[in-house]
Amino acid sequence: MFAEIIVDISHEKVDRPFEYIIPDELEGQVRRGSQVNIPFGRSNKLIRGFILDIKDKASFDVEKLKSIDSVVTGSTTLEGSMIELADFIRTNYGSTMNQALKIVLPIKKSASPVVEKYIFLEADDAAAQESIEKYTKDKRSAAKLRLLSELVREKVLPYQIVRDKLNISAQTLKALEKEGLIRVDSRENLRDALKIKAKQEYNIRLNANQQAVADDIWERYKGGDLRPSLIRGVTGSGKTEVYINIIDRVVKEGHQAIVLIPEIALTYQTVLRFYKKFGDRISVINSSLTYAQRHDQMEKAKRGLVDIIIGPRSALFAPFKNLGVIIIDEEHEGTYKNENAPKYHSREVAIKRAELAGGFVVMGSATPSVETYYKAEKGEFALYTLTERAMGAHLPRTELVDMRTELEAGNRSIVSRRLNELILDRLSRHEQIILFLNRRGYSSFVSCRKCGTAIKCPHCDVSLKYHKGGKLMCHYCGYETPMVSTCPTCGSKYIGTFGIGTQKIEEEINRLYPDAVTLRMDYDTTREKDGHEKILSAFANREADILIGTQMIVKGHDFASVTLVGIMAADLSLYSGDYLAAERTFQLLTQAAGRAGRSSKEGDVVIQTYSPDNYAVRRGAEQDYIEFYKDELQFRRILGYPPVMNMLGILFAAEDDVFLARYCDKIKGLLTGTDRKIQIIGPAQASVSKINDKYRRVLYLKAARYSDLTDIKDIIENYMDENPDKNINVTFDFSLMGSKEV
Ligand code: ADP
Ligand code: ZN
Ligand code: ZN
Repeated sequence: MFAEIIVDISHEKVDRPFEYIIPDELEGQVRRGSQVNIPFGRSNKLIRGFILDIKDKASFDVEKLKSIDSVVTGSTTLEGSMIELADFIRTNYGSTMNQALKIVLPIKKSASPVVEKYIFLEADDAAAQESIEKYTKDKRSAAKLRLLSELVREKVLPYQIVRDKLNISAQTLKALEKEGLIRVDSRENLRDALKIKAKQEYNIRLNANQQAVADDIWERYKGGDLRPSLIRGVTGSGKTEVYINIIDRVVKEGHQAIVLIPEIALTYQTVLRFYKKFGDRISVINSSLTYAQRHDQMEKAKRGLVDIIIGPRSALFAPFKNLGVIIIDEEHEGTYKNENAPKYHSREVAIKRAELAGGFVVMGSATPSVETYYKAEKGEFALYTLTERAMGAHLPRTELVDMRTELEAGNRSIVSRRLNELILDRLSRHEQIILFLNRRGYSSFVSCRKCGTAIKCPHCDVSLKYHKGGKLMCHYCGYETPMVSTCPTCGSKYIGTFGIGTQKIEEEINRLYPDAVTLRMDYDTTREKDGHEKILSAFANREADILIGTQMIVKGHDFASVTLVGIMAADLSLYSGDYLAAERTFQLLTQAAGRAGRSSKEGDVVIQTYSPDNYAVRRGAEQDYIEFYKDELQFRRILGYPPVMNMLGILFAAEDDVFLARYCDKIKGLLTGTDRKIQIIGPAQASVSKINDKYRRVLYLKAARYSDLTDIKDIIENYMDENPDKNINVTFDFSLMGSKEV
């Protein structure tokens, strides 16, 4: 057997592993991630390396290969467990070891440290005092006196302060240095990610329900039960405080914590809550940081300068040496799944990472994913429930409005009569309103009323979206073209935008309620840096009466004076065409409803819909998770979808559609030949059948056993290794990892 070994696990080095022979006597003792001693270089000095991969064939002349000397025993190192984690990703989601390693080492190149100049007091106190007395008598030495008096107190001062605040010239510094009183020196600093400086106070005590949950999770951990925990808690039930309590105990024992939060919910408000408790022992990673800033936060984790990292997906790979807990907030969020290959799911990788570190995972959501709840029901996860809002606030009243009856009654507005009534009421009471639409842009698409042609992107099989200012844009590839005035197909003038978007709702609302101030939050208004934060804080400061937005407004924000939430068209997310549509709709409705009545004032939620009988819409209006879960599981069982069955989507992309179709058939033939118990669906055109000039087809496989699907993936990967073809691109998409097989 042979091993690929790297001596330095950093992003730049993983491309160049060295090959070694695994001596027979060591064969049973090594695996991916093992740390070994190897003879290295001309002198054959023994150094340490990590095994990346184990193979039964050598890629070089065996005669020239050296052998592994010995295995390093003892506890696994951070590097070793990151390699094991990469191997987990490679095995379960399909990728090369190299690609997987690059995921677990998210920081690619090092960032040069910030070097800052400081002024140090060099003289001892007696000598300094003596000089101070001397300068006090000499009027011309005022600057020297100023600096020295300050330095006696502080011992060291940043150069910038000395120059700008104390007004000390370079000349004066030189003179003092010459006298041996001070020293000018540089220090390397790591960049900060947070701009919070003021001292904050944390004074929350858990209520009995929260305490019971936190205690039980902790006691189970202490008792060696490392099963992940799921807290299903209604919005505002205080899940975040439970996380903080658990993290506090973990940190007090010398371990570290990672808090995963969807990017969209990672607001200043959220971070501040953690900061109040943990001060500068926490750091944040998010997409608005510069590369160097992100690098430095990872570096702080590695050097033990922080105990807690908060962030979206990539925070999962913070290089903590003694990781104790991984918190996954809003566990159901779709963004936890990586959108590019390898399409790993953060929840599953988190559970693996915690397992390797001997730590545990705590997940929370008001609307857990069906898959997670299924595992909790089966006992694979420990389940906790918080049914009441922490501050005693009530859950809002929700009601459904059937928009078809609005039309019958002659109301053609996008605002139903009931919603209108409540909007007027809230405006008169100066309470705030959120109007929610699960769509972005001015309106959905541009089409011709005469021939029905919709204008599509020339590179992608999707319709272009109209943006205010007369532009048509593709939301997949960014293609832009001016709005047309006649139909490109039939020349008719009756071409225009149909359907509704947030901009259109805002215009309509401004027309209906001219005295109300509105704010809009969507893809367009949040593209600039901190766009999110600006709109949210303006709304929180009550600079507007009505906030109109897409799903990005429904995540985890606390607006105490919002007492009305209007969901403009609950059905929009029902027709996305995949098996998660109902689940997503239910989640959106519940999360949006949860924005109302967060304080002592009661809230109302109006859900406008064309499908009042749909179970997801109905259960969303009832805010009944359990009943929704039962309905949904029934549906999944009948149709054989996850979590009842395991599913693998294989996406094929190629420029030549005929070649693509043939390739898909060839792979399908390969799979029908195996004796695995799988069901094959397709190949069919992907829901978006062309992106960036590449045609796309999918093959879906269903199996009762998850490992049958990973086997299939291996078969296809092997085939592609043996028959390389650069015209085809294959991506595996596992629909969530099935339950553990017994
Ligand atoms: P969730 O994460 O479940 O949505 P939060 O943790 O955000 O709930 O809690 C909702 C609000 O209630 C927050 O403003 C939080 O500070 C407050 N809160 C939660 N628990 C307590 C408590 N035990 N005492 C006082 N305030 C609390
Ligand atoms: Zn036309
Ligand atoms: Zn496009």
